[in-house]
Amino acid sequence: MSTAAQQTGGRTSAPTAIIIGGGVIGCAAAFELSKAGYACTLLDKGAIHQEASTAAAGMLGAQVEIHQPGPFYELCRQSQEIYKAWIDELEQIGGVTAQYIGKGILRAALTEEDELELRSRLSWIQNADWMKPEDMRRMEPELSAEVRGGLHFHADHQVHPVWLAKSLGAAIVRQGCRIREWTPVFKLLTEPGTGRICGVQTSEGPLYADIVVLASGAWSPALTGPLGIKLDMFPVKGQCISVKTGAPIIRSTVFTHGCYIVPKLDGSYIIGATQAEAGFDKQVTVKAIAELHGKAAALLPRIEEAEFISSWAGLRPGTRDGLPYLGETSELPGLIFATGHYRNGILLAPVTGRIVAQIAAGDKPLEDLKPFSPMRDSAKATA
Ligand code: FAD
Repeated sequence: MSTAAQQTGGRTSAPTAIIIGGGVIGCAAAFELSKAGYACTLLDKGAIHQEASTAAAGMLGAQVEIHQPGPFYELCRQSQEIYKAWIDELEQIGGVTAQYIGKGILRAALTEEDELELRSRLSWIQNADWMKPEDMRRMEPELSAEVRGGLHFHADHQVHPVWLAKSLGAAIVRQGCRIREWTPVFKLLTEPGTGRICGVQTSEGPLYADIVVLASGAWSPALTGPLGIKLDMFPVKGQCISVKTGAPIIRSTVFTHGCYIVPKLDGSYIIGATQAEAGFDKQVTVKAIAELHGKAAALLPRIEEAEFISSWAGLRPGTRDGLPYLGETSELPGLIFATGHYRNGILLAPVTGRIVAQIAAGDKPLEDLKPFSPMRDSAKATA
């Protein structure tokens, strides 16, 4: 009998799941597992939605973010394809909109080198058209005269990450998921004899479940390390600013090398993002704000007239090879990995939730997830 069953006195009841982490990935896993009949408990060390997920810009950049074809690109595309239906479902269940905007992304080149890189993607990328500078300015008249052309990614839409988080939170509560905030998980518990992960040790004592989902973002290695799995993961600090104009100056997201400007429904724009390995530091620096301002104004000069609203920093769950960890391992059965989504966790939330539920149901051949295995060579920390 499993420890979870022992805890319920052996009675037949819904299967149970513990999800560690209340970002978009943990919430997406809780959403799909509760739909599949699991009684879910989601734990967070703080309040939910306070880390990378609400620091994001919200681009669903399956095309703009990916520089080569392969399994990661295919994963991003799968998520892109189901995104709209997924957020409609969240809104229907929880009653909160994720503020989806279906206007695509204009990826503009300001240098010859960048133009060549963008043109090289045309041989394999879908949903992209090359645009001459005058075509780009016809779409977005305020773009700089320095723009040399670029790609229109017409399926790379966007949501508001804060509203996505609220939408997910409302939907999972509606589905009966129990959320326990300010309840850090200190350790994964293994079943004596089998070595199966059967629960977690928390600040409130042990909790047991049939499956445990690791969705603790940049903090994930601290939980698997003591059990012998050293994930090569690290926080990648990203700083952003938000500004507002009277009348809108762009309708679609505009993006150039090292900077994007994402217009939101409330008339604000998220300008991001810096990228640095700086441990768990989340301070916003003057240097970063100046850098973002300079790059944004080079792309969209009228952004200079905007009113400053706020600044923030978040910690992307980075991995050395840039791929997430998805799946199970024979070393830690009972633990489903759903972490390491780096720059694309907002985009990848629906497909990740779906994969977690498929693994829990035994419907996902691990072979399919080989490129994302926590045991792949490129994923293991050397130290
Ligand atoms: P998080 O949101 O960090 O959530 C992890 C949660 O786990 C946290 O709430 C944390 O408190 C909790 N936790 C950690 N350890 C424990 C523990 N021991 N016990 C209990 N709880 C624990 N992605 C996109 O797709 N599009 C974008 O436009 C985009 N822009 C971005 C811009 C910036 C500036 C940043 C920083 C990120 C951006 N991303 C974007 C990336 C995206 O935000 C992340 O990939 C995604 O949020 C990761 O989600 P997560 O749930 O894994 O992590």
